Amino acid sequence: MLDSTLQATYDQVLRRNPGEPEFQQAVREVFESLEAIQDRHPEYQDHSILMRLCEPERQIIFRVPWVDDQGSVQINRGYRVEYNSALGPYKGGLRFHPSVNVGIVKFLGFEQIFKNSLTGLPIGGGKGGSDFDPHGRSDGEVMRFCQSFMTELHRHMGEYTDVPAGDIGVGAREIGYLFGQYKRLTNRYEAGVLTGKGLDWGGSLVRKEATGYGAAIFADEMLKARGSSVDGRRVAVSGSGNVALYAIEKVAQLGGIPVTASDSSGYVVDENGIDLALLQQIKEVERGRIHEYAERRGGGARFVNGGSVWDVPVDIALPGATQNELDIEAARTLVKNGVLAVSEGANMPCTPEAVSVFRAADVAFGPGKAANAGGVATSALEMQQNASRDAWSFEHTEQRLTEIMRGIHARCLETADEVGRPGDYVVGANVAGFRKVADAMIAFGVI
Ligand code: NAP
Repeated sequence: MLDSTLQATYDQVLRRNPGEPEFQQAVREVFESLEAIQDRHPEYQDHSILMRLCEPERQIIFRVPWVDDQGSVQINRGYRVEYNSALGPYKGGLRFHPSVNVGIVKFLGFEQIFKNSLTGLPIGGGKGGSDFDPHGRSDGEVMRFCQSFMTELHRHMGEYTDVPAGDIGVGAREIGYLFGQYKRLTNRYEAGVLTGKGLDWGGSLVRKEATGYGAAIFADEMLKARGSSVDGRRVAVSGSGNVALYAIEKVAQLGGIPVTASDSSGYVVDENGIDLALLQQIKEVERGRIHEYAERRGGGARFVNGGSVWDVPVDIALPGATQNELDIEAARTLVKNGVLAVSEGANMPCTPEAVSVFRAADVAFGPGKAANAGGVATSALEMQQNASRDAWSFEHTEQRLTEIMRGIHARCLETADEVGRPGDYVVGANVAGFRKVADAMIAFGVI
């Protein structure tokens, strides 16, 4: 049970947002953290900040008609939730996956507000997407879908208004089609309107790698705070998309041994350490399935159909696929196997019950808002480069990313200490992210 004021607001959130369990889960987690500062900040209650924060500034839902390769008309639903612009233009990715609905987009947008605040960069929070599934679709079909999606979305975007990027199902190919259509419709080469662009047309070095790199760096920082590091540790990574691939790369650079990868069909275990070049070839180039990795790698690598990637004994877990993929049973198994740290590369991949298990076992737990903020932070660096018509080197950009991740880690720890919850990164991230947004909202008056 939350304290009575927070509970009353939360009850109102439940009433106004029925049938949106992921959104309710994300709100509840933030409210639980805010109990730590509730008494010190009556002004937040006086200004109804929480209720205002739980209501998106704008939600856009639209029809996306397109023609498939057989000549049939297909209809999908498009979403953009422009959640909060207190700190800057709405910023957050687009997700193309059959599970996408308004509740999922709202949960992701809500998380994004605090994550973006934590980066220290001037970006607000938003998220969008569609129930379109790019798997198994030809390039022509993906292009026609993206063009139709952008034909509506472009009216709501702008480098000072709303700046989307990628997420599940939206990578370099989709961003290319989306940017091309935006440019054609507006007759403007407005590079700063989308991030995750190709390097030849306004993209930033390190953006592709940034979320995965950041999650691995965050795990390293958490372990360093406890006198240890990723070096020499066995690491389980879930997923084999953008976040997972580059988490695997950074883990290996830090001296760790990434031993797993997965997709929705199962997972692979490779005791010799995942061969990143082979995994990239299968996943990024050929858009293949994860079992092909075990078949082509040989030498003891094996594919497990079903089961859980979290059954593999490891020192560090980096969930990098999707929400609620790591439940209480998985958490218990990881703890039994001696896990030291969990760093969320994906958004809300651990259920609340799993997080409680990690807390009780004193596992260092980095919530997605902090641990995967490297992606959006580097998107903001891409916007900076676009604004100054500049292109930074890989080394410079990676250095900025590393500094930002270390800064977020330090801010979480300092805030957790300040509010009497030492070592609690969830409370640290939520409180630090929330306060900046809340203070800005108060400064702007009732808008
Ligand atoms: P991605 O490139 O599309 O990869 C997603 C991976 O997760 C794929 O291997 C996919 O397998 C797997 N997956 C997705 N949904 C699944 C499900 N319901 N069950 C099992 N496996 C599933 O996406 P991504 O960009 O890496 O994003 C992964 C996570 O990181 C998401 O939670 C996203 O919100 C978060 N995130 C991403 C970024 C970013 O910069 N991209 C930034 C911050 C947070 P299949 O191919 O079989 O579906």
